[in-house]
Amino acid sequence: MQTIDNYNFAGKKAFVRVDFNVPLDENFNITDDTRIRAALPTLKKILNDGGSVIIGSHLGRPKGVTDKFSLKHILGHVSELMGVDVQFVNDCVSEEAAVKAAALQPGEALLLENLRFYAEEEGKPRGLAEDATEEEKAAAKKAIKESQKEFTKKLASYADCYVNDAFGTAHRAHASTALIAQYFDKDNKMFGYLMEKEVKAVDKILNDIQRPFTAIMGGSKVSSKIDIIQNLLGKVDNLIIAGGMTYTFTKAMGGNIGLSICEADKLDLAIDLMNKAKEKGVNLVLAVDAKIADSFSNDAKSKFVPVDQIPDGWEGLDIGPESEKIFADVIKESKTILWNGPTGVFEFDNFAHGSLAVGEAIVEATKKGAFSLVGGGDSVACVNKFGLADGVSYVSTGGGALLEAIEGKKLPGIAAIEE
Ligand code: AMP
Repeated sequence: MQTIDNYNFAGKKAFVRVDFNVPLDENFNITDDTRIRAALPTLKKILNDGGSVIIGSHLGRPKGVTDKFSLKHILGHVSELMGVDVQFVNDCVSEEAAVKAAALQPGEALLLENLRFYAEEEGKPRGLAEDATEEEKAAAKKAIKESQKEFTKKLASYADCYVNDAFGTAHRAHASTALIAQYFDKDNKMFGYLMEKEVKAVDKILNDIQRPFTAIMGGSKVSSKIDIIQNLLGKVDNLIIAGGMTYTFTKAMGGNIGLSICEADKLDLAIDLMNKAKEKGVNLVLAVDAKIADSFSNDAKSKFVPVDQIPDGWEGLDIGPESEKIFADVIKESKTILWNGPTGVFEFDNFAHGSLAVGEAIVEATKKGAFSLVGGGDSVACVNKFGLADGVSYVSTGGGALLEAIEGKKLPGIAAIEE
């Protein structure tokens, strides 16, 4: 497989798919430019080699051309960070785009307009009438797949090589994230530096495990984490279940959970997971106490109680000190750690202590040599809130992509380069 380090971009044009899907405020100022910064090593390597770049990205979820989602809003900041005057074309596949791409000189960069302004990027029909018949839907699907081919070919035609540095969309088989790769031979397509790091981190968690391996799964719902939990049960030594999921398990075991969030239709599943853990010899660790509140608010009245004795009218919003200690003891003895999802409503300062304790235990284990991967949107927000990002081995930029990779799925954006 080709690697970016081994590739000499001198005199070459590279189509680089990045994830510049950054948050903007109402005046179109970027409120967090982490994703742009994350792609800089790749973009700079190409320019420093004497190559030129055609940068493709999506922004938001537009369903057609929408000024609010135009990449023109970020052009100035991208230029500033890259240290070159990045050119812009308010389109992706027009004659103008082709001309501008063709005219690029070594060291120059061109940012294409939001790829998702085109239905062809995602390959899904748009604007179908609500009462469309099955036949009409099938015809629209066929038509978009056909025009997607042309769209993809056109994007590929701008460049001599393809670099995918957009891990955040690697789980999508879109035109610019996966399909485009087929127009480049294996020596002319590769991962960018960010993508390489992400792939390596996931591989370490899935295939190069130093034991004990502990996963901490938090967040709100069992239903959204079930596939990952199932996959991890075959791999981990310890599985710590935290966050809102706790109460589905507690209720399944007959405990009183008051108003705590609970998926009533997942009680059997919780029991099933506990049995599977036992069968596989996995140490399933659940909270024993909770910090409960009399309303869903940072300023609610609160107290600590055993997790299965939550009074009516109260709800569990975080783990309690005994659980913190149990979790931390397990984490500190671990050599491989995956953290996905907070232990409670960490957005409320008064219910963030459990997540902080877990984060600190992970940092301590990492200092002793453990490999720790933190990923999934909210855990990243969590480590950033507590200033712990530098103390863990790797903080993933991927939300859905990371979760699907950990579920054991082959991501289309990765497969397209590796095959
Ligand atoms: P997820 O996106 O599934 O990882 O869930 C993250 C969200 O779960 C965060 O916004 C937390 O506030 C929320 N959460 C964690 N614990 C609880 C809880 N005990 N009750 C309600 N929400 C929770």
